[in-house]
Amino acid sequence: MAKINPSYLNLSKNYLFSEITARVKVHLSKNPSKRLIRLGIGDVTKPFIPAIITALQKAVAEQGTKEGFRGYGPELGYDFLREAIAKTEYDGMGIQADEIFVSDGAKCDIGNLQEIFSLDTKMCISEPSYPVYIDSNVMSYRGGPANTKGCHPELIYLPSLPENNFLPVLPSVVPDVIYLCYPNNPTGTVMTKDQLAVWVNYAKANDCVIIFDAAYESFIREPGIPHSIYEVPGAIDVAIECRSYSKTAGFTGLRCGSTVVPRSVMGTAPNGERVPFRDLWARRQTTKYNGCPYIVQRGAEAVHTPEGKAQTRVVIDEYMANANKLRQAFEDLGLFVVGGKNAPYVWVKLPDGTRSWDFFDRLLAEACIVGTPGVGFGPTGEGCFRFTGFGTVEDTEEAIERLKSFKF
Ligand SMILES: *Cc1c(COP(=O)(O)O)cnc(C)c1O
Repeated sequence: MAKINPSYLNLSKNYLFSEITARVKVHLSKNPSKRLIRLGIGDVTKPFIPAIITALQKAVAEQGTKEGFRGYGPELGYDFLREAIAKTEYDGMGIQADEIFVSDGAKCDIGNLQEIFSLDTKMCISEPSYPVYIDSNVMSYRGGPANTKGCHPELIYLPSLPENNFLPVLPSVVPDVIYLCYPNNPTGTVMTKDQLAVWVNYAKANDCVIIFDAAYESFIREPGIPHSIYEVPGAIDVAIECRSYSKTAGFTGLRCGSTVVPRSVMGTAPNGERVPFRDLWARRQTTKYNGCPYIVQRGAEAVHTPEGKAQTRVVIDEYMANANKLRQAFEDLGLFVVGGKNAPYVWVKLPDGTRSWDFFDRLLAEACIVGTPGVGFGPTGEGCFRFTGFGTVEDTEEAIERLKSFKF
């Protein structure tokens, strides 16, 4: 008899985006004339920059020649890309190219990293959050069945609440691993170097590992906000960092990301020996993964060139201009809002007592605007709402006009 992995039964139903689609469909069938504005988009919308196109085309042409054809590549990434990342993204931070692992995106890495930790690892996760941190641990028996609030009692939650400007405070129980994501999805909040240093020092003092998701680092526009956790002294001994070309360079469909596991990040074996997680991750990846395509890695390499950097910046500036305008609009309306300055996400605290889905329905019915209910990112998100800067300039401005006459 083939039995299922029962931990999958502990997963909460992930119905957020299908529920949004269903409600929008009903709305459109009743109101076919008024134009719908989608500000819930969590995907990039602008085409590849010229530097990427050129690099991809060149790599495709190479594959069409006898000399240039390549089959299986190195599982951990081509040296040209690992070295480009080390040089342009981690210069002066002590990160070696062979501590950088190229993959087909941050989602897989974030989902897979938990495998190199013992099953009884106490996982601590900031919340509301990108669902992969929680679900990948629930799938590997670390969560237990969800309670009535939708929380898995064996995980430690770090709620991001309005009284702390939507940043979490240190946990009251010492965990083994801490997931942090800054700039944050969904709240758009960031941590300054000093704020992040509190977490790094805590991890050092308590022998914890931090899994730092830096998928939105290229959206940081203010000085003093670290793009990498390794800018914080001591982080190289406690932190693993994931990055992605998805939001930075429009790779959501092309697929490429990187994860840094420094040799100095150690875990304890059953016999008490200290073992570098880097070696476990290398073993895991070479066993279960055959590497990101050569063509894609050449496209990613172009993002690190001076032209690539300049062209990507222009695209991100356009998304950020939208996010900035949205944030300003909500501030002008007198609402408490965070994000939008160093991240494409704007997180609005709805007036007291307003529930996320009720607001979703009213905003759709009365203003024909689609956003994302905060509760979809976890119970702490109830009473909040996410808007994104990934729409067009025209849609963003039109939405702001409509919001001015909307009764919150
Ligand atoms: C979009 C996103 C990622 C990127 O995932 P990819 O698999 O590289 O596309 C990672 N983390 C967060 C928080 C995200 O929002």
